This record gives sequence, C-alpha cells and structure tokens, in this order.
Amino acid sequence: MAPASNSISSQRVAVIGAGAAGLVAARELRREGHTAVVFDREKQVGGLWVYTPKAESDPLSLDPTRHVVHSSVYESLRTNLPRECMGFRDFPFVPRGDDVSRDPRRYPSHREVLAYLQDFAREFKIEEMVRFETEVVRVEPINGKWRVLSRNSGGLSEDEIFDAVVVCSGHYAEPSVAQIPGVESWPGKQIHSHNYRLPDPFEDEVVVVIGNFASGADISRDISKVAKEVHIATKSSPDTYEKLSGDKNNLWKHSQIDIAREDGTIVFQNGKVVHADTIVHCTGYKYYFPFLDTNGYMSVDDNRVEPLYKHIFPPAFAPGLSFIGLPAMGLQFYMFEVQSKWVSAVLSGRVTLPSVDKMMEDMMLSYETLEALGIPKRYTHKLGKSQCEYLDWIADECGFSHVEHWRDQEVVRGYKRLVDQPETFRDEWDDDDLMEEAYEDFSTQNLINFHPSRFLESGR
Ligand SMILES: Cc1cc2nc3c(=O)[nH]c(=O)nc-3n(C[C@H](O)[C@H](O)[C@H](O)COP(=O)(O)OP(=O)(O)OC[C@H]3O[C@@H](n4cnc5c(N)ncnc54)[C@H](O)[C@@H]3O)c2cc1C
Repeated sequence: MAPASNSISSQRVAVIGAGAAGLVAARELRREGHTAVVFDREKQVGGLWVYTPKAESDPLSLDPTRHVVHSSVYESLRTNLPRECMGFRDFPFVPRGDDVSRDPRRYPSHREVLAYLQDFAREFKIEEMVRFETEVVRVEPINGKWRVLSRNSGGLSEDEIFDAVVVCSGHYAEPSVAQIPGVESWPGKQIHSHNYRLPDPFEDEVVVVIGNFASGADISRDISKVAKEVHIATKSSPDTYEKLSGDKNNLWKHSQIDIAREDGTIVFQNGKVVHADTIVHCTGYKYYFPFLDTNGYMSVDDNRVEPLYKHIFPPAFAPGLSFIGLPAMGLQFYMFEVQSKWVSAVLSGRVTLPSVDKMMEDMMLSYETLEALGIPKRYTHKLGKSQCEYLDWIADECGFSHVEHWRDQEVVRGYKRLVDQPETFRDEWDDDDLMEEAYEDFSTQNLINFHPSRFLESGR
C-alpha cells in the first residue's frame, strides 16, 4: 500500500450519476468522511437498470440532437452472470424470500437488479445525497478545484465549485455502429441494441443481427420467436455457416457481413445471401463525456479514454478528477466498490498516489504491453482475464480484501456457459460448488440471516 499521510482531509465531492457506480461511490465517499453531492438527470436511482419502453427517435442514435434515453435494457433481459457474484461485497445480491414480488432466480430479470440497487440506496441512505432530474452540463478545472454547471428539469442552472469530481455517468448510452460496405444504399431498416425493447416490430421479418456476445445472443433469440428468419453475423472464421437450435428452427450463424446491396440483400463473407428487412447492431458502445472540458488534456481516441492511471485518475488532475467504472469486465459492481474505496482514500489523504510522471510512465507501459500483445487500442479498457489482478492491486492500495475464489470462478465459468449454451445458461448450470461457497461466505460474515441450503435448491 502507498504511504499514508498524517492529515486526513474531508472534501466536497460532486458525483455524476446515481447508477450502481455512483451509489457505491457516494457511500464510500461518505464513509471516508467526505461530503458528496450526487447528480442524476433521471428521476430515480439505478441508472441503466431503470427500464423504459421508450427508445430514442433515431434508432441508430446517430443524430446528435436526439433526446437521449439512458437505459439500454430490453423487456426480456435477465442478468448475464449469477446474482451472487454481481453484488457489492457487504450487501449480497441474494433472493428476498420475504417479498413475493421479487424474482428469486439465480439469473433474475432486470427488475430485480433495479430493486437490489434501490434496496442498497435505502439501506445506506444514499437518496438523500442525490439531486434528481439534474443534468451536469459542464465540468472544468478552476484554480485547483472543479467548477460544475448543472441544470434541473425546471430549467434552473447552478454553477458550483467542488474540491473533486467523480465521474460515474456510465458508458452504455452512446452506441457504436458497425461499418457495413454499401449500407448507404441498402433500403432496409437499421437499429442499435440500445433502442431494442421488444421483438414485436420484427414479426415475419428477415433480420440480420450483428454481434453474438451477451446482447446479440439474447436479442437474436428474442426476435427469432416472431421473425421469419434471423441471421447472426459474427467475427468467427470467414466460412462460418451454422444452423442454431431454437424454438422456431429459424436461426443461423454466419461470418461477418461482406456487403449490403441496393436490392435489399446482405452478402456474408461465407458467400450466403439473404434478403433482409432489418439489421440490428449489437455492436457495443463508445465512451462519451460531453460535459467534460479539460482544455484538451483528456480525450477519447479509438475508444481509449486518456490519459488515465489505472483507468481511474487523469495524472495531471489527480485526485481531483476520477472515473469509476470504465473497465469492461464481469465483476462490475464489485469493481465500482473497490475503485470507489481507493478514490475516497486518496481524496482524504489516507493513501497517496505516485507522482504525475510515475503515473504517466505506468500508463505508457500498459499501452506498450497491449501493443506488444497485438491488442487493438479500442480494447484498452477491456480487462478480461486480468480483472482479478487489477482489482486485487487496487484493493492492496486501499487496504481492502482480495476477490473471493468463488466470485472470480463464477465469472469464469459463467461466461464459458454463456458462450457454450447461450439458450440455457441462465437455467442450467454446473457450479453448485461455487454457489455453496458463496452462500457459506455470506453466512459466515453474517451478511444473510438464513441458512444457505434454502437457496441452493431454488432459482432453477
Ligand atoms: C444491456 C446490458 C446488460 C448488462 N447486464 C449486466 C449484468 O447482467 N451483470 C452485470 O454485472 N453488468 C451488466 N451490465 C453492465 C452495466 O454496466 C453495469 O451493471 C452497471 O449497472 C453500470 O452502472 P454505472 O453506474 O456505471 O452506469 P449507469 O447505470 O449507466 O448509470 C449512469 C447514471 O449516470 C447518469 N448520468 C449520465 N450523464 C449524466 C449527466 N451529464 N448528468 C447527470 N446524470 C448523468 C445517468 O442518468 C445514469 O443514471 C449490462 C450492461 C448492459 C448495457
């Protein structure tokens, strides 16, 4: 751990966003003795888990003047990981047997995740710190502090100075759209998964879905229930062509799209040609911070947010400006918690950061390592297999414990199941041993007041 300072200071901190990241950041900041003001443009906590049937007016979300709808959640969405590994460390995401309206499944629906985040906010009295329906429109450094301009739903603007800003604004609201040769003159419809809610509009259509990870796998199967045919374009080898099992026997897996033609056809690299009505882009998102003005110091280039030390602190502005939740990994909520602990401890002076030069050096070294491994720049924040190493390193910095064995392994085995059995992974699993370990752990720490065996049999 870095050397601690003698004087512990309390800061006034602006937190942007009241999703999972902002909620736990607010809790950790307060635990460390800081005063946090949380801004969120929505009416309630939960961020992307607040489902709305509304989608954006531009289905590809390319129009910069569109009204932004924050949530990317579709009606049928269930979590893509077991609930035990999703929860915060001291507030497990376990079934609430005392409330029949709740979803007890191991992979529950999006409503259960929202309910969990609401429980968390209630338990730790976070809502009292949140200014709802208040959008942060500008953040800029000023004389060693931070100027935050916000606007509420009544049009009232506020101009305030904070000691620090913690950005928890999420990164699933600015879609990344696939570049398809010829698509400009292709006559069909296109939509990004960000604006997908229900399969109904695709009834009897021939649909091409681009992408086959979590959202792509789910959405293609959701649509196949009502569509005539669904063809999934994947990054697998150019000759890929496979009929997939499904209720209606109308689902195919292909290689990538080669070209979209004026006559309405889509040609895949495997040579197959389909006449399609709609293309659904399940192609991910871009980092986007429209409110941030650092006078050119920070930028997002090819989806790399830079410069950042450990994906959190821009060296020249550290610790006054920090980002929670940038890395893409399985252990999302857990990562928010560990990062927030570190940021809070650094802000109070309990833990110190290296010099600006050393932080830049570390960052450059990490870029060189990616390059040497042939990992494209756009994957800078994709941590994948190194997620535990990253989380444990931060935990060591701020005196937190390491990722539990069961939590790490539930992600590893959970993602393997997701890829191997995309239709059944949420209801058929082979890791009862890990689930048992998790519940024993919660029980030993008195985080749950029931015997774990009760739940090991349910949820299927
Ligand atoms: C479709 C989908 C499914 C997913 N499924 C899972 C899963 O099963 N398990 C899992 O662990 N993770 C999942 N994730 C990952 C997800 O990132 C995390 O679960 C997590 O909820 C993200 O939390 P966040 O707080 O970073 O962002 P968000 O939840 O997006 O919250 C950001 C908040 O910031 C607010 N905001 C943004 N800009 C401003 C501004 N300028 N002013 C004021 N407020 C602002 C927004 O209104 C929002 O409330 C999924 C992601 C997607 C897109």
